[in-house]
Amino acid sequence: MGRLVKDYMHLKSSSDVHRSIYGARARRLFLLKSMNMPVPRVILLSINTVRKIQAENKLDIEGILENFKEEDIFSVRASPEHWDWGGPPSILNIGLNNKKYNEIKKKLNINLASKLYLRFILSYSIDVMRLDEELFDPVVNKTISESSIKEALAIYAEEMSEPFPQNAKQQLEQVLNSMIRAWNGTTARLLRQVQNAPEDAGFGLIIQRMVLGFGKTESGSGVAQFVSPLDGSKKVTGRYLSQSQGKESLEIENSLFLTKDKRGKSLEEHMPKIFSELCRLGEEARFKTRDELELDFTIENEKLWLLDAAPARRSARAAIKIVIDLVSDGVYGQREAVKRVEPKTITELLHSQLSPLAVRDVIGTGIAASPGAATGKIVFSSSMAQSLALQDIPTVLVRVETGPEDIRGMHFTKGVLTERGGMTSHAGVTARGLGLPCIVGANSLKIDAKNRLLSSSNGRVFKEFDFITIDGTSGQVLSGKTELVEPAFDEGFKTFLDWAKEISVLNVRANADTPSDAKLARTFGAEGIGLCRTEQMFFEKDRLLAMREMIFADSNADRKVALDQLLPMQRSDFEEIFQIMDGLNVCIRLFDPPLHEFLPRERQEMLELAEALDLPVSKIAERTKDLSEFNPMLGMRGVRLGITLPEIYEMQARAIFEATVLAQKANISIVPEIMIPLVSTRKEVQLIHSYVEKIANEVKSETNHFFEYKFGVMVETPRAALRAGDIAKHSSFMSFGTNDLTQMTYGLSRDDAGRFMRDYVTKGVFAEDPFHTLDDDGVGELLLIARDRGRQENTDLVLSVCGEHGGDPNSINFCCKSNFDYVSCSPFRVPVAIVAAAHYELFK
Ligand code: PEP
Ligand code: MG
Repeated sequence: MGRLVKDYMHLKSSSDVHRSIYGARARRLFLLKSMNMPVPRVILLSINTVRKIQAENKLDIEGILENFKEEDIFSVRASPEHWDWGGPPSILNIGLNNKKYNEIKKKLNINLASKLYLRFILSYSIDVMRLDEELFDPVVNKTISESSIKEALAIYAEEMSEPFPQNAKQQLEQVLNSMIRAWNGTTARLLRQVQNAPEDAGFGLIIQRMVLGFGKTESGSGVAQFVSPLDGSKKVTGRYLSQSQGKESLEIENSLFLTKDKRGKSLEEHMPKIFSELCRLGEEARFKTRDELELDFTIENEKLWLLDAAPARRSARAAIKIVIDLVSDGVYGQREAVKRVEPKTITELLHSQLSPLAVRDVIGTGIAASPGAATGKIVFSSSMAQSLALQDIPTVLVRVETGPEDIRGMHFTKGVLTERGGMTSHAGVTARGLGLPCIVGANSLKIDAKNRLLSSSNGRVFKEFDFITIDGTSGQVLSGKTELVEPAFDEGFKTFLDWAKEISVLNVRANADTPSDAKLARTFGAEGIGLCRTEQMFFEKDRLLAMREMIFADSNADRKVALDQLLPMQRSDFEEIFQIMDGLNVCIRLFDPPLHEFLPRERQEMLELAEALDLPVSKIAERTKDLSEFNPMLGMRGVRLGITLPEIYEMQARAIFEATVLAQKANISIVPEIMIPLVSTRKEVQLIHSYVEKIANEVKSETNHFFEYKFGVMVETPRAALRAGDIAKHSSFMSFGTNDLTQMTYGLSRDDAGRFMRDYVTKGVFAEDPFHTLDDDGVGELLLIARDRGRQENTDLVLSVCGEHGGDPNSINFCCKSNFDYVSCSPFRVPVAIVAAAHYELFK
């Protein structure tokens, strides 16, 4: 056993209590005390003192107890450095023993005294000495009386082979030790990990004299906050219960409301003076602590005491309103306001969430690929999603995996669940783009699309049209219909985003493929489009046929005829996008996917195509077979198509330039950026640039209108990253397509990663799914090599990330640190990215 630790502090209004030394709760209590608020006597143990006790040193408990009176009883609360790191629950009534029990019996009455003492015996036995809760069932299940105490003490003595401790020193010592053990337990560590707490996160302890919520005249306890937890508007919420302590008022139905309420009696009516005193203290504390608080208060014989203060409970919407109001009341400035709202809070704001009161009947889990919650009837096909949507019936589309043919159906469903796939497989990428909740790789669930059944690993079977709920934020699939909280994108939120934009250096653009995406991007504050995936435009029904005609063309001339049908459609899409994005940059990626994605898969579809193209069905089948590849994602796609079938890129370049001319003539300010996917060599870039330049010159002379454009590449192959110096000579920008680059760097298929990703992450092989959070070490090194080699050859080279990582706060930190110019992500992630980029500047 080590030294006797005497480091503790009696909290006074003149003390100096820092969060980093005593923890956040102690700091808040100190702020209340420093305003001479009625806080009962407190002894603080610092984070360091707790560490010393943990290292087998003994605390000078006797010295601590000298600060209190013989008759006092105490509470102990944890004070972690950050309030959201959790911590063991508070223990109340320490110091109670048979002698004090008898005194309280005389002073109050036997019932109240028994209630208090029994509560302490139970919490000491169960929370501190870790006895089974069920042992006390016989006592708990009957009316409290003096015999309950005898019985509970006997159970304790029997189990522990020693009597219930009667001295405060022993009780307090055990309580402190048990709280320290709980802090270091596995569950607590895991919970802290989720909050990004460091491995060695510390906590202080608060020992406080208890004021009793029991007395001869009005006594009781309550919890109060001064804003609505739902929307942050000014409103006194909480409860008060006579003759109670702790948070009992929140648990008991007949507690008083605080302010006048139609539903029942209130403290405001019952004790008007105390109520207004409470409101005054709440308002003063808000200014001093610079936050909205939830106050634990006690009334002891008509005197008000404040025991504890925590940040007020708040939804994401309320969190924004609270900081905006604090800025307008001059409590702090805009930078502080942005600092106080976590990027993840923003995600919640933009998507429906499961109501905090929802019952979760979990039937399986998968990878949380797109946030938000959706509840609806199970459908197994996009066409069914569409037909139910026409009748206003919400659905969840359940597929083994999705492909381009599902995009239409995804527009009509509320959420998507797939058995296979990973973060960047088709379902995840598309759902994030549409702001649709999505879970992928839920391989504990089995989907039998033929018989229209979904079964869970424990044998529960769900039929088509049964209700399920998916939580794309946690990855949980729930049975049945569940209540949702709707998203809120209001004026306050826009103001908040403007503040964040003023702070951030990194720009945030959106991945937007259609005019409606572009509108959303603008609404959400995007500073341009960083990736417009042009092929998405060809999946529309009227365009798909022309696209297929182009694929089946036997000659260049035939191909040109088919492409000529697509040209006006692309041109009008671009024109509309340019209009929407007037004054901002728009980066358009030329055609990327392998052609087979546009071909029919089922016989019926082949027949229809044969009829439409007036070809024998055998020819359709044969061509489909010809175009199939062993590894299409590594095959004829991206720039490789551009080189072998230049007519496609030429048509797209023409559509872009003609739209530019039309837009500029309508006074729209636009300098289009043309981006080539999947390059790996300088020669590819030069060749495509020459095709594009030729078309630019043709359009200029045909329209007699001069325009500028920028030409650049996507860096998606490791070779392009390594040869960035060569490539940069012919590019004005490089955008890292980190989905493909991660896939190729790891040699890991983005569509199949879901099969083992969860195991890899749980076993710690990967710290995170690298398709979700950029692998700073490996993929990141390639990015840095490309940055250095590229900028060495072209000092004006604009650098960005447009893979899914562009919307992930950790990956955004990497981009900020690496001096990139912008990130681009799906419109629904733009606000999160803006706040994450601002946080980098605020916390760097
Ligand atoms: C990428 O590969 O990162 C990218 C943005 O392109 P896509 O996801 O369309 O392949
Ligand atoms: Mg790509």
